[in-house]
Amino acid sequence: GRFMSAVICARNITASIEIQLLLKRQQEEMLSIEKEKNDLLQQEIERKDDFLALISHEFKTPLTVINAALQAMDHFYKNDLSDKIKMYHNKIRQNSNRQLKLVNNLLDITSINAGHFAMKQTNMDIVLLTGVITESITFYASQKGMNLLFSSTIKKKIMGLDEEKYEKILLNLLSNAIKFTPMGKSIHVKLTQKIVSRKSMVCIEVRDEGIGIPPDKITLIFKRFGQVDSSLSRQSEGTGIGLSLVKMLVEGMGGEITLESNVGLGSTFRVLLPLQKAKKTSSILRPLDIIDKRLTQAAAIEFSDVYIPTPAPEPIGPRKE
Ligand code: ADP
Repeated sequence: GRFMSAVICARNITASIEIQLLLKRQQEEMLSIEKEKNDLLQQEIERKDDFLALISHEFKTPLTVINAALQAMDHFYKNDLSDKIKMYHNKIRQNSNRQLKLVNNLLDITSINAGHFAMKQTNMDIVLLTGVITESITFYASQKGMNLLFSSTIKKKIMGLDEEKYEKILLNLLSNAIKFTPMGKSIHVKLTQKIVSRKSMVCIEVRDEGIGIPPDKITLIFKRFGQVDSSLSRQSEGTGIGLSLVKMLVEGMGGEITLESNVGLGSTFRVLLPLQKAKKTSSILRPLDIIDKRLTQAAAIEFSDVYIPTPAPEPIGPRKE
């Protein structure tokens, strides 16, 4: 039990601790630089979206005035206009509608990106609404000699829907179907009810017999400005933002959009929406309430970049009781 001797071993680890601390400091610095970069990028994106929104608003005001003037001209001088003036008149209307389509889509996208996605859901019959929207574009389909078919395996289904957003989704899919399908072919809109992951969903299918989309472009076309053919020599007009907006709207409604396509044979876009009721129970729409000026005008804007051999129809005026 008597203490004789001891060996004390000590190693100076200051250097290695200093290196560890230095590494940690460097990592923290790198992280903060990375975060700063991300913040700057995010600010840059927000600034660009703000700029886009501002410019779009500035474009929209004169376009609305041009459209209002054209409508007034239609209303007051309809019988005084010569055929030549009517032709120029239609050209002005179609092109201002094309500008309006782009501006509206940009405004919608920027406001969704800024987190202003407000849903105005009311309970309505999706079967009736889908049928009415499909019917509203009969003119455009018949001008291209196409069959436009609507079918539904459900008779009536009352569910919570934002009518304007649903209209936008369907009109966009229909205008693409008509745009990318040759004359004389068919377009089929079909409604079914499905159970997906134990949830009841409504499936809206828009099927065309058009040019189809190659598998490697399917992800691209749902991105902003994504087009299968973006060359100057492409066959159709368009800006490539319609489908990215459709995807945002569908996802904002708690749904999803998928695409099945075969090049040369056609494409089928499927929109799945959750079958749920809105808290607001007020309006269950009747057909006459829906086929109104707004839907005709919305279709005229959505179809403004679809090549139609003859002038587009005039918007329907206020309905007489
Ligand atoms: P836009 O039609 O204005 O170009 P969209 O975002 O609506 O913009 O569509 C993006 C692209 O997706 C189109 O340019 C086209 O290449 C392709 N596309 C969309 N729908 C169809 C369709 N039904 N058939 C073939 N291609 C389509």
